[in-house]
Amino acid sequence: MARVAVVTGGTRGIGKAIALALNKAGYRVVANYAGNEEKAKTFEKDTGIPARKWDVADFGACMDACGQIAKEFGPVEVLVNNAGITRDATMRKMARESWDAVVDTNLGGCFNMCKAVWEGMLDRGFGRIVNIGSINGQAGQYGQVNYAAAKSGIHGFTKALAQEGAAKGITVNAIAPGYIDTDMVAAVPPNVLEKIVARIPVGRLGKADEIARGVAFLVADDAGFITGSTMSINGGQHMY
Ligand code: NDP
Repeated sequence: MARVAVVTGGTRGIGKAIALALNKAGYRVVANYAGNEEKAKTFEKDTGIPARKWDVADFGACMDACGQIAKEFGPVEVLVNNAGITRDATMRKMARESWDAVVDTNLGGCFNMCKAVWEGMLDRGFGRIVNIGSINGQAGQYGQVNYAAAKSGIHGFTKALAQEGAAKGITVNAIAPGYIDTDMVAAVPPNVLEKIVARIPVGRLGKADEIARGVAFLVADDAGFITGSTMSINGGQHMY
């Protein structure tokens, strides 16, 4: 039977590309989203992949959603923690709420979702988790103390959880994307984006499919010896 894969933030951007790639590879995919109904409906209609709404920052909602998915589709054996937001501002201007929102969603969401599937993965002796970090968690970024801290946390979280899963058939890896052509990057002012692209050796923004390719590789059944690693997919912008 096909393995069930949950992709958070899976209805647009990088998450959508991941959901499509895993669907194509034969997984039974469920895509999560936060509130953009229009995108979610179009996604479901175009792809045939079910979309489910819950807030990854809400621990109870994650537990309920994974329980419901297990009943409807089967136990979650592949989890891709992709949902993420930005609330950029310099330290002087950053509101406490912007710190909380980004840390609770980008890092707290990763904990909540792993917690919701971990016990089941241990029981079955199999699991694949991929957490989407960021080049800005590796290198830092002006105006992003919240985002860089949360994404840097993802990389530490991944290495710690990988150690707990290693002898139990569960791998936990991270992907650190560079700048990828999605709505999130479209929000960066054009003059700033131009300077960013000038620093990417490959000479362009990345494509969501190029991240999805890495996820499909890491979640494969025969990728059991790859755990605790961070795959940088960034056009050579940051060689970590
Ligand atoms: P987008 O803004 O295009 O999409 C974000 C997705 O996450 C949407 O599906 C959104 O749902 C969902 N989401 C946001 N908050 C929540 C929440 N609280 N609960 C559930 N779902 C949520 O982002 P990208 O595709 O650009 O980014 C995907 C991931 O990759 C993020 O973690 C991001 O930090 C990371 N990343 C992106 C880079 C880039 O250049 N784009 C670079 C490095 C890392 P909805 O549609 O309902 O709003």
